[in-house]
Amino acid sequence: MLNVVLFGAPGSGKGTQSARLIDEYGLYHISTGEVLRDHIKRGTELGKIADSYISKGNLIPDDLMVEILDDVLEKEAKGKSGVVFDGFPRTIPQAEALEKLLKKRGTALVAVIGLEVPEEELMKRMIRRGKETGRADDTPETIKNRLEVYHNQTHPLRAYYNEKGKYLPINGLGVVDEIFNDIAEGLEKLTGIKRRVH
Ligand code: AMP
Repeated sequence: MLNVVLFGAPGSGKGTQSARLIDEYGLYHISTGEVLRDHIKRGTELGKIADSYISKGNLIPDDLMVEILDDVLEKEAKGKSGVVFDGFPRTIPQAEALEKLLKKRGTALVAVIGLEVPEEELMKRMIRRGKETGRADDTPETIKNRLEVYHNQTHPLRAYYNEKGKYLPINGLGVVDEIFNDIAEGLEKLTGIKRRVH
């Protein structure tokens, strides 16, 4: 299975590049942010808990997040040729849990694609997205906290995966297609797997 993580700060383009990966490699997309927003929209108990964290730009506790991911993998990812994890893991304990969840299913992570974008650009992109989509946590105050949370809790994963030889750094500035080409080339070098031929 081709299981990859799309890694990067909020606003780095994970959603956009996930869409391309799904399209070109026939993978199943799991965005933990989208799973949570869907619960909030449907007004579920989990949605109410998630909203209290998301609205402040904080992370949902690891135990809860891992339980949710296990459930999504069980119900929806079975029989797929691979998964793009978008927005998960966001902490070292989540990364350790992901390894166990995949091992339990007889598979593993092949690469962590890191979209690297300077902070001023992240700010600009998220403010623009907030205006265009009305996404509730794309407000200046919440964005500031999300970037701080990223630096403190998520960024250490870069070194964690780099040590394991799984980290693939990608310059996330520029044209979407060119960024995707870099990802495809990097993935081929790292795993030997080619994108679909058009
Ligand atoms: P995203 O759509 O990936 O930017 O996620 C939006 C928000 O959902 C984050 O700011 C967190 O509050 C929450 N969230 C998404 N994924 C995770 C995760 N792996 N761990 C904890 N919280 C998460």
